Amino acid sequence: MESTGPIPSMWSSSNGSKGGRHLLKGRRKLETEVRRSIEEPARVGKLWEAMERGRANRAATIEKTGLDLPAFRDRIRLIKETAAQDPSIAEAFAEAVRANGGRVSFAATGRQAVQYVLDVCRANGAEFLVKSKSLTSEEVEMNQGLAAEGIRAIETDLGELLCQVAGEKPSHLVFPAIHMTSDRIARMLSEAYGEPIAPEPSSILSAVRARLRPQFLAAKVGVTGANIGVAETGSIVVETNEGNGRLVTSVPKVHVALIGLEKIVRCWEDAADLVRGHAISATGQRMTVYVSMISQRQPVAKDPAGREFHVIILDNGRTRMRADPWFRDALNCIRCGACMNVCPTYGVTGGHVFGHIYPGPIGIPWTANVHGLEEASFAHLCVSCGLCHEICPVDIDIPLMIAKVKDQDVEAHGQPTAERFFMASEAFAKVACLSAPLANRLLRRGSLRVLMEWAVGVDRRRTLPAFAHRTLRSRFRAREGQVGRVGKVAFFPDLYAEYNNPDQGLRAIEILERLGYSVFIPNVQWSGMPYVSYGRLGKATKLAADNLRVLGPLVDDGYEIVSTEPTAVYMLRKVYPKLLEGDLASKVATHSRGFFEFIEPHLTKLSLRPTTDAAGLVGFHIPCHDRALSSGLPAMRFLERASYRVRPVETGTCCGIAGTFGMKGGWLGYELSMAVGEKLFEQFRGSGCDLIATESSVCTLQLQDGLGRPVRHPLDLVRVEGPA
Ligand code: SF4
Ligand code: SF4
Repeated sequence: MESTGPIPSMWSSSNGSKGGRHLLKGRRKLETEVRRSIEEPARVGKLWEAMERGRANRAATIEKTGLDLPAFRDRIRLIKETAAQDPSIAEAFAEAVRANGGRVSFAATGRQAVQYVLDVCRANGAEFLVKSKSLTSEEVEMNQGLAAEGIRAIETDLGELLCQVAGEKPSHLVFPAIHMTSDRIARMLSEAYGEPIAPEPSSILSAVRARLRPQFLAAKVGVTGANIGVAETGSIVVETNEGNGRLVTSVPKVHVALIGLEKIVRCWEDAADLVRGHAISATGQRMTVYVSMISQRQPVAKDPAGREFHVIILDNGRTRMRADPWFRDALNCIRCGACMNVCPTYGVTGGHVFGHIYPGPIGIPWTANVHGLEEASFAHLCVSCGLCHEICPVDIDIPLMIAKVKDQDVEAHGQPTAERFFMASEAFAKVACLSAPLANRLLRRGSLRVLMEWAVGVDRRRTLPAFAHRTLRSRFRAREGQVGRVGKVAFFPDLYAEYNNPDQGLRAIEILERLGYSVFIPNVQWSGMPYVSYGRLGKATKLAADNLRVLGPLVDDGYEIVSTEPTAVYMLRKVYPKLLEGDLASKVATHSRGFFEFIEPHLTKLSLRPTTDAAGLVGFHIPCHDRALSSGLPAMRFLERASYRVRPVETGTCCGIAGTFGMKGGWLGYELSMAVGEKLFEQFRGSGCDLIATESSVCTLQLQDGLGRPVRHPLDLVRVEGPA
């Protein structure tokens, strides 16, 4: 892949020198890390495969068990919302633990939690402790805190242990060492243990087991996290797929459990549903192998007294998150890792780049709130594809939370020129359209593109769509419209149909008219996705309010809102109602549809013919934002009715361009975008399809650039000859 390296002007900041310096430092560091990741294709390949496996296992289990996913999602969400928002549940849990003979400490900060463990170790003369299930202990950096006071923490979960030997942080919520190959593990352990270990799982496991057994027997203190706390009995639930968790909680004289206060639920009924949710969503298992329910320590023969059970209930920013409407939903996370398995840029960069201590999509709001905004600059790796929200078993709107983190970061440290340029896309398109022949010539010229790359950070290699000589609105006004009797449609053009491809917009409008609709193009602005993607939520909200002021009265007047651009529909249906709660946004959302979804019930009234010589096999790409709407099905059926054979070609994640992200220059733009896209390009190359189609204007650019083949909109492939 050709590289132009970083583009100096992209990193200039819009708000002063202090912010500018941080911007340079934060984004340059991120850019260097992305570059390193992409330059390790073997590691990327392994990570991508693991993610694919994670998604496939989850999907297979959901299918096999016949799980009613929406109902299950509602149930898990209700349990978590109640748990996260009601402080009295943690109090009740603490009381019940004490009633069982346990000791409870509320830790306001991570430092307090570590101090408590230190005190326990000192009181018991422990020079080391064994640990399991310890993600929350990573959050408070327990190992480092203990080591500074001379206490060794020995990780016993295989993945955590490997990270500890390597001196690395976990790179996945569920599979901490997902980034390591077995060759590397064998090399690393051979060196650490001073004996040759073969790179087979059985040899690795035997070696680790042999080293750990004496530690379990000698440890005076065992520390675990907990997946769930149950208030009605003061119990904790520890779910693991390795037996070591049971050794840590049962062999040492003292067991200390560290639990985030948001993990405590009211009753066993809630806990049972969460146990099921964890297994299905995290690993695609029906049930985790070891589910331990611990309420108190039982005496053992040699030492009938003195077996202690301590619980540390950790706040560390959670109460603040609970009070913040932007971030309180993050407390509902069940740490299943599904969002990581679908995230396109995580799949290339991995959790060491796409993470601080908490990795992946949900790691962004958690990091910003628990470890501070300065550690959360990996938020800019999010390309706002929305897929993490779609897969999340608790329906957490992670992309919007990430947009808020970006907003705070941009507010504090400024914004790169390229992002400001793309947020001005509508103004740029208006000017370019007025002088289309000249603008198009210049946009194709190598020297101007080099200048543009230098000045505003638009990658010179990215094909940009040409501008039309006349906008959709001006052509629509000049034609004779039809008065329909079936209903009224307000056509939302967004940028592409308005300024780049009015032909496509007019074709859609003509089909609507054929079906008997009166069509009108309202005086709306663009849908404004870049404001969300680049963290300018104030601007996004104002734009949403302006558009809704136009669309609301139309809906009241009986209009349905229809658009050919999936991202515009996604904004109207999914994002505007989050930016502007209330009746107006939800009313417009309810009446907004994608073009193919809208016409689908009427398809039998149309006579559809292929525009190509032979209606061959169409490889269809589903745009990310359409996955939250209709998953491309109506567009595929439209093509099938015109005699095409259609097959979705997909990796299950984004094509990589993600709006304007892949138009930006450098490793935090074009390079990362193409690295993500490469997996999809491979699929298309091997698909044997005669034609390639997609509904999204930007996915079209990405596929054309990556494959060197034309990519068509379904409307370009079908001739509508009249009512059937
Ligand atoms: S929106 Fe897409 S890119 Fe952003 S974190 Fe979620 S999955 Fe990743
Ligand atoms: S945010 Fe949702 S998908 Fe991601 S780890 Fe949490 S519960 Fe799982």
